[in-house]
Amino acid sequence: MENLKRRNFIKLGGISLIAGGAALGAPNIVLGATRKVVVIGGGAGGTIAAKYIKKADSSIDVTLIETNKTYHTCFMSNEVLGGNRKIEALRYEYEGLKKHGINVVHSSASAIDVDNKKVVTADGVTLGYDRLVVSPGISLKMDAIEGYDEESALVMPHGWKAGPQTSRLRQQLEDMNNGGVVIIAPPNNPFRCPPGPYERVSQIAYYLKQSKPKSKILILDAKDKFSKQSLFTQGWKSRYDGMIDWVPGTDTGGGVTSVSAKEMIASTDFEDFKGDVINVIPPQEAGLIAQSSGLADRSGWCPVHLDTFESSIHKGIHVIGDACVATGMPKSAYAANSQGKVCAAAIVSSLNDTQMATPSYVNTCYSLIAPDYGVSIAAVYRLSADRSKIASVSGGLTPTDASPEALRREVQYAYSWYDNIVADMFS
Ligand SMILES: Cc1cc2nc3c(=O)[nH]c(=O)nc-3n(C[C@H](O)[C@H](O)[C@H](O)COP(=O)(O)OP(=O)(O)OC[C@H]3O[C@@H](n4cnc5c(N)ncnc54)[C@H](O)[C@@H]3O)c2cc1C
Repeated sequence: MENLKRRNFIKLGGISLIAGGAALGAPNIVLGATRKVVVIGGGAGGTIAAKYIKKADSSIDVTLIETNKTYHTCFMSNEVLGGNRKIEALRYEYEGLKKHGINVVHSSASAIDVDNKKVVTADGVTLGYDRLVVSPGISLKMDAIEGYDEESALVMPHGWKAGPQTSRLRQQLEDMNNGGVVIIAPPNNPFRCPPGPYERVSQIAYYLKQSKPKSKILILDAKDKFSKQSLFTQGWKSRYDGMIDWVPGTDTGGGVTSVSAKEMIASTDFEDFKGDVINVIPPQEAGLIAQSSGLADRSGWCPVHLDTFESSIHKGIHVIGDACVATGMPKSAYAANSQGKVCAAAIVSSLNDTQMATPSYVNTCYSLIAPDYGVSIAAVYRLSADRSKIASVSGGLTPTDASPEALRREVQYAYSWYDNIVADMFS
């Protein structure tokens, strides 16, 4: 027991692991009874929490509940729209996680019994837990824009959950005439992947410039500013001058408020805009299971203690990834990965009655403006002294005077980042 208590967490490039090779993954024979962790959601956050709990203490029984048998990464999905990546190259399976000893259950978690610590799946299976991790990503608020629902999303794809929606949007771009207008309607903050809509604009512009150069892109934004704005604006001027028109929130009156899929019109409070391809990215909130189990507050997102990601509403349940309010961090895959590791360390520490060191967190976000033009933002974070914020303590942004060689290298770094994060999730 004393040995266990003296186990400390160390940090390795922002990753918290149990110290000492012998301790890592060693079965916990001291406490006897099997401790059970259930993880809902096998995406950027959930896979990592499941894997790192199991790696840190193999005696903990870890079950991952994931609706789908395959996962398509949203990260790099904009490259599918640009034509430089096939949708199949975004698809992953869960065999690698099973090899770590994680029980993978393909079903939807339909209810959480917070009082009795149980999860019920859509197949009627009940799974008890000592700790629960919830990482369901986002749900799209389909009632936020008049006329936009599941049916019109087939005509005006959002592409904000990668897979068939991404392929549909790509097909529409391919079918569009040279000289067509692509409308993109990004939502207000907070939403999944703040630079994502603008990387998407860049990738679509890249495709249009090669194949349909008379075409235009109109961005009907809900906001007056956006992530990495100066870098995107510079990149668009350098590569796609005259092709992209960004209309800020002030001039749209807060973005697109209604659509007509039949007439292919997106309307703001001031004006109607006709498009040949219309990409509506609706406002978002935490995934449905987080809403229905009372983990979300009135904002639609889940408040958590920032050192452990334990819900501040329901004890014993941790919420990570896009669904949680990680004040100070963006909603990104890399943030979800970092949160998954901190959460895993907190759970293992709590189940083994050991003290957890102060965590650190990381995020890097690459955006591909063209196949030889990448930009990035990176940050290392620590918990603020009053524990109210995950505060950036170091970081950087691609400089606006970066050389063509540096911009080309950013693309290679982005590809390397992608290979590493999917290997971390699925192997
Ligand atoms: C176009 C685009 C580009 C992006 N590019 C980047 C990028 O370059 N870098 C970056 O860091 N991030 C990027 N992101 C953001 C990134 O995809 C998300 O932030 C990340 O996936 C969030 O991880 P998560 O675990 O919260 O959710 P997800 O990865 O979405 O995983 C949630 C999982 O939970 C499952 N699930 C949901 N409900 C249930 C249930 N009830 N039962 C069982 N399973 C359930 C879902 O099927 C899903 O597999 C991008 C996003 C988009 C849309």
